[in-house]
Amino acid sequence: MDSVTNSCARKPLALDRFTASLKSALSRGPVPLLVIRLPHFERIAWRDGKRAARRFERRVVDRFAEAAGRALRAGDLTGHEGGSDVFVIALSAPSRGSKGVFAPDCRSVLERAAAAMSLGADARTETGWTWLRGVSCRADLERGVEAALERGARERERYEFFAAVGHELRTPLTSIRGYLETLIDGGLDPPTGRRFLETARRETLRMGRLLEGMFEFSLLDLSAQTLPARSCDAAAQIETACDVVRPLARTRGITVHSAPCEAARVEIDEDALLQLLVNLLENAIKYGREGGTVRIGARRSEGEVVIAVDDDGAGIVPDERDAIFNLRVRGAQSGGRPGTGIGLAIVKMIAERAGGGISVRSSPLGGARFEAVLPLGADFAVPLS
Ligand code: ADP
Repeated sequence: MDSVTNSCARKPLALDRFTASLKSALSRGPVPLLVIRLPHFERIAWRDGKRAARRFERRVVDRFAEAAGRALRAGDLTGHEGGSDVFVIALSAPSRGSKGVFAPDCRSVLERAAAAMSLGADARTETGWTWLRGVSCRADLERGVEAALERGARERERYEFFAAVGHELRTPLTSIRGYLETLIDGGLDPPTGRRFLETARRETLRMGRLLEGMFEFSLLDLSAQTLPARSCDAAAQIETACDVVRPLARTRGITVHSAPCEAARVEIDEDALLQLLVNLLENAIKYGREGGTVRIGARRSEGEVVIAVDDDGAGIVPDERDAIFNLRVRGAQSGGRPGTGIGLAIVKMIAERAGGGISVRSSPLGGARFEAVLPLGADFAVPLS
């Protein structure tokens, strides 16, 4: 946004007045309608009563008015109806006319207003925008609001999907680069060199399969059926996962130990299990102590295999132990470490699609222990003696 900005807070118009002002703005051409919704609002009204909801709404309206005052030009419109969880902005300032309004303008105004509101009110927002070409009544405006929110949800899904693809491809790439660099440095005995090459090759193949599979097995499609019923050897996948993350572990001076495991097949596709294990190990390395230890082991229990990944980092406070499995949730102690809050959501989805689950607790090593419980392969599903 450049030039003419309004530095004082602007009170949103009631929606009838907003619609009337919008009608005259639309006579000059289409106008972008930006929408911010606070889904939390309904829950507060339902859970804490009307007075709490009114207090919350006042706080949010103030933040919206301040943000709009900073980001909008004279002639842009803002609207909100008392008791509703929706806030609207029409970028209708005549000064925008000749240069036009571009998608990045809309996103930047939306992001700034939504960030101010969610920070001020400590509540999540949903956003979206669409072009309005004509509005003759409130119902037309409401249809525009729905269209904007639907478009926003689709954009978020697309963003999450590509962020997930990026997240999952980064580890094999780091692994391949690490092995190739060690090979270039030379000085390895031939069997070790061959093992490194084989690991790098296996990771390129897995990357290819990940790319193909991503489009079916995406985060968008949470309702998809369970994973194909295949089984694999837990101990072999644990060893492969350790090989994959060792280059990363080396960068932090961390030793990765795999405890000897009982022979056990688990009822899950081998790539899916590897993806789950690599994500858990990668986190243990990222959040573990510099120069410390990460341990992975598996044990059989009735009808199940429990795979535990331990580290000696700061661990996870009990309050966050459920939330961190949600998409794009990062823990308070993630500090300055880079991250997207995607890895554990993928781990949870893989474990649940295979008919298992994932949980976290304190580790005997002093940090976090993540436990994935997976169904024992049918060929092993005999009572333990
Ligand atoms: P990211 O690491 O990109 O933030 P994840 O979904 O993998 O995303 O993890 C979510 C959050 O869970 C992290 O931000 C971090 O706070 C916490 N977390 C995950 N693994 C560990 C671990 N081994 N030790 C401590 N905290 C962890």
